[in-house]
Amino acid sequence: MRIGYGWDSHEFKRGVPLRIGGVALRHKQGLAGHSDGDVLLHALTDALLGAIAAGDIGTHFPPSDPQWKGADSVTFVNEAMRLVREAGYAVANVDSTLILAEPKIGPHAATIQARVAELLAVNASAVGVKAKTPEGMGTEKAAIAHVAVLLVEKPGRKLLAHHAAEDVPQPEIDKVVEQVVKTVPAPAKSKSGGKSRLDF
Ligand SMILES: [Zn+2]
Repeated sequence: MRIGYGWDSHEFKRGVPLRIGGVALRHKQGLAGHSDGDVLLHALTDALLGAIAAGDIGTHFPPSDPQWKGADSVTFVNEAMRLVREAGYAVANVDSTLILAEPKIGPHAATIQARVAELLAVNASAVGVKAKTPEGMGTEKAAIAHVAVLLVEKPGRKLLAHHAAEDVPQPEIDKVVEQVVKTVPAPAKSKSGGKSRLDF
C-alpha cells in the first residue's frame, strides 16, 4: 500500500474556460495556467506521482516546454496512471477538497466524481469530491485543490527495483551495513587527552 498527496492552486482569469476535474464548467472566468489550469487534475497527478515517489508534475511536464501550453490536463493524469501501473499498483481510493469562492461545486460534484473515477479506472464510490469556500483566507481570486490517494499492489505484481526495497532479504542489508561501517574511519585522536581533531 502507498499513500500519495497533492496540492495545487490557480488564479481566476477572465476570458479563460473553466475546467475542474476534467469537466468544463460554465462560469464567467476560468483558471489561468500554462496548461488548461485544471487545479484538481494537477493535484491528483501530484498525488499519484508522490505515491510512487516519482517526482512531481513539474518534473514530468515542465512549464518551460511549449508542448504543454494549453494542454488538456487529462494527459498528465494518464501519464501518472501509466507510471503507477508500471510500478505495480492500482488506485484503491482518492479523496479531494476544492477551496474556491465560486462557482458552487455541489451541482457538479457527481459529474466531476464520475470523470475522475473514469480516469483512475475505479468506481465512483472510490472518489471523494468535497468543496469549501475560502472563509477568512483571502484567496477568493484563486482555486485550490488538495488530493489524497491510496494505491494497492496489483495481484501478481512485479514491483520495480526501486519500489521493492522491502523485499531485500535481511542478510543482504546486514552485509551492506557491515561494509559501510568498515569503511568509516575511526575518530582521530590527538596526543593531548584523546580528543578528536575537530574538537577545538
Ligand atoms: Zn496546476
